[in-house]
Amino acid sequence: MIAIKTEELTYTYSAGTPFQKTAIDHVNLEIEQGEFVGVIGHTGSGKSTLIQHFNGLLKPTSGRVLINGTDLWAKETNLREYRFKVGLVFQYPEYQLFEETVYKDIAFGPVNMGLSPAQVDERVREAANFVGLRDYHLQKSPFELSGGQKRRVAIAGVLAMNPDILVLDEPTAGLDPKGRDSILGQIKRYHRERGNTVLLVSHSMEDIARYARKVLVLNRSGVAMYDDVAKVFSRAEEITKMGLSVPQVTRIFMGLREEGFPVSESVYTMDYAR
Ligand code: ADP
Repeated sequence: MIAIKTEELTYTYSAGTPFQKTAIDHVNLEIEQGEFVGVIGHTGSGKSTLIQHFNGLLKPTSGRVLINGTDLWAKETNLREYRFKVGLVFQYPEYQLFEETVYKDIAFGPVNMGLSPAQVDERVREAANFVGLRDYHLQKSPFELSGGQKRRVAIAGVLAMNPDILVLDEPTAGLDPKGRDSILGQIKRYHRERGNTVLLVSHSMEDIARYARKVLVLNRSGVAMYDDVAKVFSRAEEITKMGLSVPQVTRIFMGLREEGFPVSESVYTMDYAR
């Protein structure tokens, strides 16, 4: 089944003003249910704009977005339902924590979905457990926690809605390597156990190579490539031209080979000196 489909999706900011900017331009994309997709592209390539269409936060200027086959902006579609089906974790999500306890913060989504108190409780505990928070954290104020723990609370708040599709925009930005590995490991486990579709926007090519199965490369407001990790990274030269650094690309190859991906010797030893 196709989880996310876009048809000629176009979005223009500030249309009709001197600041007009088409951030994504006629994007056609199909992402299968259950995929773990890494999303890469230079700053300004349209990543955030694209993903904000998947739960209807942005309305297409033209074109369509279909989630599980349903056109989000068709008259008969209950958009609210899709706001829960597609969970979006923004960059620095901890800035959106506002409740007086961690528990209430994680419960916010499930309560709004209209679940019973017992169901909400189950969701909160399950999500907290998934991101490595303990029971004693739940009654604390989110503001008493460390940066990494606040991040976990924010991610748990989205997991608690049990979204079919989980979209994370740079979820590990600003964390130390240990915190980063821990959160990505939890997301990977969530994906493996639930079989949900996961999209991970990241500047870290190593993270993408380690965790994702497919890679979506955005460039100049459009999709440059969408394929298996090894296939995309085997076209490293093209990626390098899109603004990712040579050391980044080289590191990916080393990582990929360690992980057992069939990266050919000729690609691996390509001459990057320039
Ligand atoms: P990315 O997430 O890949 O960095 P964005 O989707 O944020 O890319 O941005 C794509 C383009 O749209 C950029 O040129 C950016 O400057 C522009 N843009 C993003 N948000 C806005 C906005 N609110 N108003 C006007 N232009 C914007």
